[in-house]
Amino acid sequence: MIYWAWLLGISVAFVLLERLNPARKSQPILRSQLANDLFYLIFNGHLWALLTGGVIGLVATRTDSVLQSASLFPETGLLTGRHFATQFIVYLLVSDFLQWSVHVLLHRVPFLWNFHKVHHSIHEMDWAGNFRFHWMELVVYKSLLYIPLLWLGGAGAPLFAVAVFGTAWGHFNHANLDVGIGPLRWIFNSPRMHLWHHDASTEGGVAKNYGIVLSIWDYLFRTAFWPKDRGPERLGYPDDDRMPTDLPRQMLYPVFPAKV
Ligand SMILES: [Zn+2]
Ligand SMILES: [Zn+2]
Repeated sequence: MIYWAWLLGISVAFVLLERLNPARKSQPILRSQLANDLFYLIFNGHLWALLTGGVIGLVATRTDSVLQSASLFPETGLLTGRHFATQFIVYLLVSDFLQWSVHVLLHRVPFLWNFHKVHHSIHEMDWAGNFRFHWMELVVYKSLLYIPLLWLGGAGAPLFAVAVFGTAWGHFNHANLDVGIGPLRWIFNSPRMHLWHHDASTEGGVAKNYGIVLSIWDYLFRTAFWPKDRGPERLGYPDDDRMPTDLPRQMLYPVFPAKV
């Protein structure tokens, strides 16, 4: 099944799950910015993903060939010929750690933080927030991920399975769902943990909980923050009133910030 069909199916599943057991019951279904976020879902999840994937994938494959011919890259990777489950687990661990690292950079490098502000300008969180991000983010993530993943030398199917699993878990992290995951929280990220990443105060959000699928990197590198008895008071970041609400200016941010 092609990726967009998975994306559609996973999205519909979370629409239904949020109706069954919402964490914030007073949050409207047709929240502000939902139309923008549905556009981001189609654009970032399909159109822009295909274009950047094609161009950056081609550059990475060519770079791989050049490095191989210069004997700087192995012809047989660590995962070549391995069982599907082994490839899935290694791809998940490596890609999730790389994404955690890129996410840290998006917060700590001021130039990159400008783009990541679009994701953090959401004030009412639900599953659709997962794909609310600036188009530059895919360029940064894919440019830094593709060459190390190619180096592993595995097959396309387990890598695709990791992408689908990551999409489902990303929707889960952003979903308005009242669910805990028990002791699995030491391994996996969750809606309650990720909500603190979006905290507008300096208490949680600005430098905490960078995890994508896994929470282990945040526990390992001491960036985990999760007071379990409550949630953040406000989502966003300190000067988020400068983020425009209309889609064209959000996509061109920070060129045309909102006037305050
Ligand atoms: Zn972030
Ligand atoms: Zn998020």
